[in-house]
Order: sequence, then structure tokens, then C-alpha cells
Amino acid sequence: ATSELYCIGCGAKLQTENDQEAGFLPAARLAKADAGEAELYCQRCFRLRHYNEIQPVGLTDDDFLRLLNLIGEADALIVNVMDIFDFNGSLIPGLHRFAGDNPVLLVGNKADVLPKSLKRPRLRSWLTQQAHAAGLRPVDTILMSAKNKADVAELLTKIEELRNGRDVYFVGVTNTGKSTLINAILKQTSGIDDLITTSRFPGTTLDRIRLELDDGAGIIDTPGIIHRNQMAHYLDAKDLRLVSPTHVIRPKTYQLNPGQTLFLAGLARFDFIQGHRGGFTAYVDNQLLIHRTKLENADDFYDRQKGDMLQPPRPDSDVELPDLARFEFTTKQDSDLVFAGLGWINVPAGETVAGYAPAGVDVVLRKAMI
Ligand code: GDP
Repeated sequence: ATSELYCIGCGAKLQTENDQEAGFLPAARLAKADAGEAELYCQRCFRLRHYNEIQPVGLTDDDFLRLLNLIGEADALIVNVMDIFDFNGSLIPGLHRFAGDNPVLLVGNKADVLPKSLKRPRLRSWLTQQAHAAGLRPVDTILMSAKNKADVAELLTKIEELRNGRDVYFVGVTNTGKSTLINAILKQTSGIDDLITTSRFPGTTLDRIRLELDDGAGIIDTPGIIHRNQMAHYLDAKDLRLVSPTHVIRPKTYQLNPGQTLFLAGLARFDFIQGHRGGFTAYVDNQLLIHRTKLENADDFYDRQKGDMLQPPRPDSDVELPDLARFEFTTKQDSDLVFAGLGWINVPAGETVAGYAPAGVDVVLRKAMI
């Protein structure tokens, strides 16, 4: 019977296989439908209606390109939610081209995980600079935490200033906190319960969720784009917190000589190849194991200790961790060597270093954030 049933909320075909995709309904619920219940909501619409809660859904590249085209054709303010702990991982390729004449408001979310010593104005200009380097020309940049009410209120004020009566489209890569943010907006915008509608983007199977604003415009949440090579894909559920820190990061500084190596558990590696003895500061989740060793023994050490002393990966894991791929850099300025999703190590100017991450996960050098 499954094949003929559609969610009366969003119109998605109901399915019981994948709770990350549209139209999901637990099999037990669907069984009741066979017993005669005609009006069914998918789990996502059910939660939206009953708990005012939006569940994230993810999209692959093709669908996302179509979505971006539609947004480009709209007359709208585009709100791009980014995770500042994972700036590179939350870039949407080509967004600036698709946005066309529509203004983009850049939202640097998860500001709460960065050390308090890092002043927001400084971080904000850093973020704007990075956006420019990536070809994005946001009309404005805002730093915030979706978990902080005052920040959410400030964002809403900013949106009101910028939208000029237009619709507002929220776009973002998965895991940047877009759903958390939309849910926070729902909670703060009183009386909006009955005004949420879900529908399809025309000509696609993509969901959109629309919150009506007073002047007939709407806030539209779009599905998150899935980046394929995220560190998160190689972690067990128990270890996911390593790529989504919930507490302020305590930077850890290591005095290193050339010829020394740091392992970030079994997930990444940092070699100090050539330069002057000095401090290298790691910005990663407080729980992530960092182990120092000699560069000359590092390959052997990794082969012996991966999954043992260097965990994750866990020995009993179902997820296969690809071999680490190596990238070498010589810094011209104070820089961060970024292991996408996992964090970064600050490297002073004039040093030759190498960064390793599971093949496919980005290792990039950028101007120092801090
Ligand atoms: P989405 O895939 O973009 O919709 O992301 P979610 O809203 O599901 O959030 C992904 C993860 O980031 C969850 O573990 C959230 O709890 C966490 N998160 C979201 N916003 C924030 C924030 O402002 N600060 C922190 N520390 N974590 C956040």
C-alpha cells in the first residue's frame, strides 16, 4: 500500500526506509494506515504541526543546483547559514553566481564554540574577508549562536532591515545549524503556529517550509545541501560530537621542533617539517585526543596505533576510514592549517608543515582566524 500513499502535509510519497529523506514514516505508523486511517502526515510534517519543530533534510548536488536556480529567479533576501567552526565545509559552491541580484546575508553560526578572547568584531571581519576570498559578496555579515535568544532576535531585526518586503530564503549546508535556527525563530515568533505551510518547489520533489510574515512575504527554509566528503561521514554516532563541539573550545598550544608530529586521534595528522621551534595552537573539540610523536616514526606509529591508542576510529566501527592523504604547505603569513570539520592548527609564518586527513576530506591553509 506504501506506493500509493502521500503525506497530506507536504505531498511527499510516504516511505519507511530512510528517515533522512522526504516522506519518511515509521513502519508501525504506516501499519495503522492499512487499518483504515486515511490522512497521514510524514514524520517531518507531524513534528512540525505538533511540536513546531523542523527536522533537517539533506539534498544531493543535482537537486541542490535546481534549488539554487529557483532561488536565483526569485526576488528575495538570501540568508546563508554557515558554521564558523567549519567555514570551508559550509561554503555552497557557486552561491554567488546563483544569487544573481539578490542580496545575501551571511550568518556565521556557532560563534559560541570559539574562545571568548576572540572578539566578535574581529571575527566578523575575518568572516567577511573569507567570504570575499571565496567569491561571495554578502550585503552584511552577522555572527551568532542559534542557541542564544538575543542573537536570534538580532538576526530577525537584521533580516527585517534588509528584506524590503521581499521573501527570505534560508540556505545552508547540512550541520551548520540551519534547522536549530529556524526552530528558534519559530519559538520566538508568537502565534505563527497556524501560518506554517509546507509545499514543493515547482517542478521538483524538494520540500520547502514557509513561515508567513505580516506583509504577505515569507521566510522559506530549504533543504540542506550534503557535502559528500565530510569528516562526519567517517565517524560513529558516538563520535559525532567531535565535529560539532557544544562547549567553548580550549585552545592547546604545543612547543614543537622541526621533525615532530601531532596526531589528532586517528583522524588527522600534522607534521612540522622545517622552520623554527615555536608554538603551534590546536583549535579542536576539547575531547579530541592529541598525541605528539617523532616525525620519523610517525608512519609506523600510525599503522600500529590507529584504532587502538589513536581513537577514533573505533576498532568495532562499521565505518571504514579511508587512508590519510597528505598536503604540504609553507606559510607566508600567520596561518591556520584546517582539517575540514575537525578544526585547525595555527602555524606561524615561514614554516613548512604537512596536514593529513582521510582521503576526500579537505586540508587547506588559510589566513589565521585568531
Ligand atoms: P542543519 O543540518 O544545518 O539543519 O543543522 P542542525 O540544526 O541539525 O544542527 C547541527 C548540529 O549543530 C546539532 O548538533 C546542533 O545542536 C548544533 N548546533 C546548531 N546551532 C548551534 C550553535 O549555535 N552552537 C552550537 N554549539 N551548536 C549548534
